[in-house]
Amino acid sequence: MSEGKLTMVGEADKRPARIHHLVKAPANTPWALERKNSWDAKDPATVYYTPETLADGTPTTALTVILRTKGCHWWWSSGCTFCGYFNDTRDDVTSEDLHSQWEKSLGKFEDFDKMGMIKVYTSGSLFEDREIPVDFQERVLKDCYEFGKELVVESRTEQMTEEKLEWATTINPNFSVAIGLEAYDDEVLRFHVNKGFSIKSWDKAVENLRKFNLRVKTYLMFKPPFMSEGDALVHGAKWIRDVASRSDEISVNPMNIQRGTVIDRLFRANEYRPPWLWSLIQLIRDVHDEIHPSNSGNGAKDQICRLIIHPTAGGKVRGSHNCGKCDSEVVAAIERYSVSGLIEELDDLTCFCEEIWRSEVELDSNYPIPLGVGRNRRGNIIENLRSP
Ligand code: SF4
Ligand SMILES: [Zn+2]
Repeated sequence: MSEGKLTMVGEADKRPARIHHLVKAPANTPWALERKNSWDAKDPATVYYTPETLADGTPTTALTVILRTKGCHWWWSSGCTFCGYFNDTRDDVTSEDLHSQWEKSLGKFEDFDKMGMIKVYTSGSLFEDREIPVDFQERVLKDCYEFGKELVVESRTEQMTEEKLEWATTINPNFSVAIGLEAYDDEVLRFHVNKGFSIKSWDKAVENLRKFNLRVKTYLMFKPPFMSEGDALVHGAKWIRDVASRSDEISVNPMNIQRGTVIDRLFRANEYRPPWLWSLIQLIRDVHDEIHPSNSGNGAKDQICRLIIHPTAGGKVRGSHNCGKCDSEVVAAIERYSVSGLIEELDDLTCFCEEIWRSEVELDSNYPIPLGVGRNRRGNIIENLRSP
């Protein structure tokens, strides 16, 4: 902040701030520190279950265990422009704490008895030794294997070495790794996301995962910072095509604004609006035939991969949203598509705001306005500019 103004490039008479400084600034503010120290490291952050589909297409229930950890090593040295995980991590979490969090999760859900799948998320990479002690990595792999549960873990690319995967598969030969690739484009990874790895690094990680017969889940970000709605649609569809044949599942994450991030700052400066839900509908329509050539739904023999979109905070001003009237109906259609993989789920959606969305995308595609022409779709402007 400079004299009450939000600046993206630092003070007028000083050297411009690097994106790194913008990313790091909020992590040490009093509100962030207070929040960091407010939770008990013996308890997991959240544990909840959702309907899911096993690798072979069988419907099941998945338990998601989100652990309190030291966070992500990339965050320690820099960090992604949209990542709000620093809100939930602390650097004094021990191996003992993690075992306690795991045991509490097991205790609460009868040793995962009714679950077919367990997703273990650590606000970073489970197999990064600097973040997660090796004995705890082993515990998760071993327990899920012994209980006969399908395991999904998250990781950046650099941990997916042959050596690490060889070790992990001797304990559990069958799990999925979800990688936050965000964009299959080096320029976007570097300048929009500050991801800290390149597409080459993802290519190599996937090659190694395949070598060990592990499943690959790819997260792509829809409408990263500093991108217009129109550009997001073109790039989003291209990235899906680029990674589909090498992914078992693609999960598109429409941008949602986490407190204290660079994207939050852009949002409050009125320079970024989360994606329209209509764009997500269009994205699915654009790529569906290539992902499901015969439109026979998820699990069909000819599917290239699964395509899922769960709009986090869908319908809210800080999440992907439309005019406010049609949001719940459009979110429900996207969710249904993610389960079934059938394009008919998107039939019969209509609202006056679709025309406004269409004009915005057309203008974005025809004028050289890098941040796009989009305006706030609803709500009180003052409320929109305030952090929640
Ligand atoms: S790699 Fe993931 S956890 Fe780490 S800073 Fe980026 S988004 Fe956050
Ligand atoms: Zn509408």
